Amino acid sequence: MSRILSLRDVKRTYGEPPVAACAGVSLEIDDGEFVAIVGPSGSGKSTLLRCVNLLEKPDSGVVTVGEFTVTDEDVDLDVLRRHVGMVFQQFNLLTSRTVAGNIEFALDTAGWPRSKRRARVAELLEFVGLADKGDNYPEQLSGGQKQRVGIARALATNPSLLLADEATSALDPSTTRDVLELLRKVNRELGITIVVI
Ligand code: ADP
Repeated sequence: MSRILSLRDVKRTYGEPPVAACAGVSLEIDDGEFVAIVGPSGSGKSTLLRCVNLLEKPDSGVVTVGEFTVTDEDVDLDVLRRHVGMVFQQFNLLTSRTVAGNIEFALDTAGWPRSKRRARVAELLEFVGLADKGDNYPEQLSGGQKQRVGIARALATNPSLLLADEATSALDPSTTRDVLELLRKVNRELGITIVVI
């Protein structure tokens, strides 16, 4: 198996005097794994995950995704975001766009030509079980359906790594099971490595 994610001595502090949210974290994850990061609230899980796609910039340490060194000074953020998808606790959908529009926006941002976006959106909606919801707006969906859109959007550009930051904590237990099952399907059928908090 090849290594998909590596963190070496990653540090991230906040505030003055500085308090370490991540105090020198090292870990390695192989391609195809499904990994959970577990710990009490405030222990730095979210900071750690956000250091992988540079939503937070580590103070020091090295992060690599495949051959790509995330912590290089001249890192190309667009390329990074295409390789690393993220699913958020509060879904972070655009309320003024339809479900299809939310997914298409990710493709547009990544430079996909208009002619190819429609088919890709349809394929993704089918995969997450929302083939009939493309024209709906987020506010017309249940929490579980919103998170399915969040997952479809995160998958849009064929990432090699998917990060999920408490993707189910806004959902009830049975919906949580469904969403986790969908993440398992992403891992199994698409071979995408998944790291969940
Ligand atoms: P977890 O995800 O495990 O709950 P976090 O990574 O969110 O932990 O937070 C780790 C620590 O860093 C906490 O003490 C938190 O208060 C602090 N922290 C997180 N983000 C910020 C921020 N933007 N500014 C200041 N402190 C922060």
